[in-house]
Amino acid sequence: MDRRSILKTSGAALGGALAAGCASVAADSSARSPFKVAAVTVPIAGSTDVFPVRRIYCIGRNYAAHAREMGSDPTREPPFFFQKPTDAVQFVAPGTVGDHPYPSLTKNYHYELELVAALKSGGTNIAIGDALQHVYGYAIGLDMTRRDLQRGMGDQKKPWEIGKSFDMSAPIGPIHPVAMTQHYSKGRIVLTVNGQTKQEADLSYMIWSVAEQISQLSQAFELKAGDIIYSGTPENVGPVVKGDLLVGRIDGLPELSVRIV
Ligand code: MN
Repeated sequence: MDRRSILKTSGAALGGALAAGCASVAADSSARSPFKVAAVTVPIAGSTDVFPVRRIYCIGRNYAAHAREMGSDPTREPPFFFQKPTDAVQFVAPGTVGDHPYPSLTKNYHYELELVAALKSGGTNIAIGDALQHVYGYAIGLDMTRRDLQRGMGDQKKPWEIGKSFDMSAPIGPIHPVAMTQHYSKGRIVLTVNGQTKQEADLSYMIWSVAEQISQLSQAFELKAGDIIYSGTPENVGPVVKGDLLVGRIDGLPELSVRIV
């Protein structure tokens, strides 16, 4: 057997084993686990139901002015995607102030206020024109970032997960079904820190619309119900310290408030 057929054969065997493994897990619901892992959910506004979170996707540099402040040229560099772990979710109920811990290792901890789209279905290679039919609803969220670690790893051409994908890095408000908000193509997005406006823009400034984000993402990943997409932040990201009060606002959604503790 030459190298190519060996690779082909072992690839097929591995694929078969993986498929069989998945099937047995799915089929045998009576199998016991040695411990429980909590499901991650976000409350749905106007309901006692919750939205089960499958994956958290985030889009980078989706507002031209933010791309420029991060040192890239929005006309030449397309936006890109990364993920946070599902359990990075920190749900904050409207009318409350969430205690958000200042994380370890960083000395430059940044806010990024973002519109979040939540999917009820998915697929691959979704056409832009079909994309919004997969959206269940919208929420307001913060993509909290250890900027020094993100930049440091980026400078070393290493993955910058440690800067983005850590515990509690995804504060979010309740998910509002589309019927409550309609689909977003515009609307004010404003973040204040201690009452002072820091980020102020309009969702219409996004380089890629929510529909385009879904379409692009679905070329790289099979999207599924439960996936949520942080759609990028406008310009004027900046640092916070313990004690700071962050209040995020997006037209049509309740405020999201956290205090850094
Ligand atoms: Mn972001």
